[in-house]
Amino acid sequence: MFLIGHAAVGATIVQFAGIENPALAFGVGWLSHYVADFVPHGDEPVGKWTEGPHGLRRLLAIVALDGILLLLALGAVFARRGFSWAVLAASAGACVPDVLWGLEKLAGRKLFGPHGAFHFRNHNYFHVNLPLGVGLALQGAVTALLFWRLAAV
Ligand SMILES: [Zn+2]
Repeated sequence: MFLIGHAAVGATIVQFAGIENPALAFGVGWLSHYVADFVPHGDEPVGKWTEGPHGLRRLLAIVALDGILLLLALGAVFARRGFSWAVLAASAGACVPDVLWGLEKLAGRKLFGPHGAFHFRNHNYFHVNLPLGVGLALQGAVTALLFWRLAAV
C-alpha cells in the first residue's frame, strides 16, 4: 500500500476516535499500518518493480511522487478544516513501517532487528492477488474517499 493510503487510514482512525494528542495519534497511525497491510492492496507488482538493477531509482521516484501527493492531500485537508497536529502525526506514524523498510533497503542490510519480518508477515496475509490496475484503482478510490471525509469534518 502506498504511503498516502496508509496516511489516509491512520488519520481517519484518529479523527473518528477523537484523538487530539499528537503522540497518541502518531502511535495509533503507526499501528494502523500493520492492520491496513492485512488488506490485499494489489500493488505487489510495484514492489517487484523496485527490485533489480534500477530498483532503487524506481523506488525513490515512487516515494517522491507518493510523498508529494500525500503532502498535497494533507494541504487540502488543512486548508479546508484547519491545521491538526493529530492528523499530521497520525499520517506520519502510518508511514513509519515503510520508512524503516526503505532505510533498510537503502542501507542494504537489517537495521531494525525483526521489524522487517514482522512487517512483511502481514503483507497480503490472505494471498489475494488483485491485478495491478484493480488494486491501484481500489486503493486510489479508498484513499480519495478517506481524504475527502477528513476534509469534510
Ligand atoms: Zn506496510
